[in-house]
Amino acid sequence: MIKNDPFANATKQLDDACKILKIDKGTQDYLAMPNKIIRVKIPVKMDNGKIRVFTGFRSQHNNDRGPYKGGIRYFNPEGGVEYMEREVMALSAWMTWKCAVVDIPMGGGKGGIYLNPKTEKISAGELERITRRFAFMISEIIGPQKDIPAPDVYTTGKEMTQIMDTFGKLHGVTYQPGVITGKPIPMGGSLARNVATGLGTAYCVREAAKIIKLKLKGAKVVLQGFGNASTFAGEYLEKMGAKVIAASDSKGSIINPNGFKISKLIEFKQKKGSLVGFPGSKKISTEQLLTTKCEILVPAALENQINAKIARNLKCKIIAEAANGPTLPEADPIIFKKKIIVIPDILANSGGVCISYLEWVQNNMGYYWTFNEVAKKMEDHITRSFRDIYALSKKHKVDMRRAAMVLAVSRVLEAFNLKGLWP
Ligand code: GLU
Repeated sequence: MIKNDPFANATKQLDDACKILKIDKGTQDYLAMPNKIIRVKIPVKMDNGKIRVFTGFRSQHNNDRGPYKGGIRYFNPEGGVEYMEREVMALSAWMTWKCAVVDIPMGGGKGGIYLNPKTEKISAGELERITRRFAFMISEIIGPQKDIPAPDVYTTGKEMTQIMDTFGKLHGVTYQPGVITGKPIPMGGSLARNVATGLGTAYCVREAAKIIKLKLKGAKVVLQGFGNASTFAGEYLEKMGAKVIAASDSKGSIINPNGFKISKLIEFKQKKGSLVGFPGSKKISTEQLLTTKCEILVPAALENQINAKIARNLKCKIIAEAANGPTLPEADPIIFKKKIIVIPDILANSGGVCISYLEWVQNNMGYYWTFNEVAKKMEDHITRSFRDIYALSKKHKVDMRRAAMVLAVSRVLEAFNLKGLWP
């Protein structure tokens, strides 16, 4: 039995949407399970000359609307390798719903290697050998029209370049930048991809603030996690006038009611390796962080952070889920009753995959847009989806998560019904 099984949570969310849409059991089963999941052995010669075997995964959930799309994470969840398998299955399903909800013509996939490059001493050479061996093992099932990976937890443009290069060489030395997104600019990457997730989150918060008539000027923000999504969300919310009063990273959480300047937090973390100890701040627990009184809470770390107990003590007006799956299903009804507006993960962090899609489009046409052109296209996708989801939430009298799932599931079903089953 897997504790807090993320795939069970993803299935529960689908179940809720299927009830609203009155979908039959067979179709629901079709939508729930990934089409394919592979688990691969990654043997690598380490710097000390010894062989070490890692385990990797790729889950391909659904491709009714387009090629599978989704990140590759290097991480070691507490539940071990078995938990990670369930995690990538759930994350691949969320990618299906995420792509559908922001209306990009792609499906859902997710992968990863059970390895934490932050806490383990892994040299750059070792990491490259692990990455390239993994790319070799999944090279048959990925491709620009098949399955297009991207960065996720603890992976960057560097690993994406190595996967692209390995794939190209295995396919007769061809230039195939569209096999992967989140690449550095000289490798065929897109402008604005690095800031995309956080910028998308900020656009969502702006839309939610309009609905509840919240002034962003001076609004207090709490950030959980201090990676790519949360730092850029913080930066753009700061540009919109809000102020970050608490933040956290894997080493701990800090608060200063007078507010922080995001650029100073980034600078400090770069120098010291953690936010903890930032001058003028007080260290607090994760629970205190999440339940800090603020206007905007941005959970941007990992899954399963907001449980029923935390939900009961939340003191925010908007939750923008920059992480994937940060809220447990048990917490949703409590948050809904408290009239906190939740911008669900599949919308709040969809800026990343939106610009990944735009990167792929640019790769396919071999012509590249400016930062503003790309950001504007992403903004259009996100604000349109936000409004559609909000309207559905009013129509069905449900929270934004259910409404987003209803929209996503109906879009996938429309494509599935047009194609039918074959063979
Ligand atoms: N890993 C990101 C996500 O969870 C981006 C995926 C992508 O760009 O394909 O949405």
